[in-house]
Amino acid sequence: MILRKTLKEKKRIVIKVGTSSLTHSETGLMDFIKMEKLVRELTDLHNRGKEVVLVSSGAIAVGRKALGLKERPSALSVKQACASVGQARLMMSYQKFFMEYNQVASQILMTKNTLIHEENRENARNTFETLLSMGVIPIVNENDTISTYEIRFGDNDTLSAIVSALVQADLLILLSDIDGLFTDDPNRNPDAKFIEYVDRIDERFRKMAKGSASDVGTGGMSTKLNAARLATSAGADMIIANGADMGILHRIIDGERIGTMFKANRTDDFYLIDYLDAPVKKQG
Ligand code: GLU
Repeated sequence: MILRKTLKEKKRIVIKVGTSSLTHSETGLMDFIKMEKLVRELTDLHNRGKEVVLVSSGAIAVGRKALGLKERPSALSVKQACASVGQARLMMSYQKFFMEYNQVASQILMTKNTLIHEENRENARNTFETLLSMGVIPIVNENDTISTYEIRFGDNDTLSAIVSALVQADLLILLSDIDGLFTDDPNRNPDAKFIEYVDRIDERFRKMAKGSASDVGTGGMSTKLNAARLATSAGADMIIANGADMGILHRIIDGERIGTMFKANRTDDFYLIDYLDAPVKKQG
């Protein structure tokens, strides 16, 4: 497909990795082999002349393990404590790997409030621009430790789409534990068909994502479709692909037909604030 070939020309790329792509499913502990491969892929993209932003989850999971909590925390204050411990550890690991490849990386923690106020939004945009112009790879996460609203309403699929819109990326890649979009939940329906390309997100696709009994069953497909709507309206192509092997990143950029591709559909009246959740908006 011709469009896949255009991915090689992308200049500014946002990549999101989920917790499941960074931890071992059996133990919940960090998968350092995967993380190292991710860092190698990102640095190589940068060395190819791309501007790269990473949106990484994992703070709460890493913190939970560090604190020795057996159960997944449900109390907000415990989640926030986990995020506080885990975010620092997560960055320590990222920095160690990036240093091995002589790549400068930075941390940006965002809340929805960062985006609601125009002045804050401009500041954030300027910081991204400056970092990217300096050849830095910013690593973004929600500021879970202080932002109750982020934990309640936020997810990193949405955050990565917001970041794409903010920095006007031309490509967003969501790495997850699923291969892409299916007509139905492939775990439940053996006849579910893989969708390789989405020209425009219409009602048909929204129904597919909602059709599954559990959102988790399709890897949180509803939030991914919302992210796709936001990112493509802001002018970025988006790919959902399986992060089981981080080597998938250069294969995507090289134009291989992997994952589901959503074509950019920039709307003339795109305004980022319209895409932020109403309950959070009221806080502004
Ligand atoms: N910000 C959360 C964390 O780092 C993860 C949110 C998400 O994966 O959607 O633990």
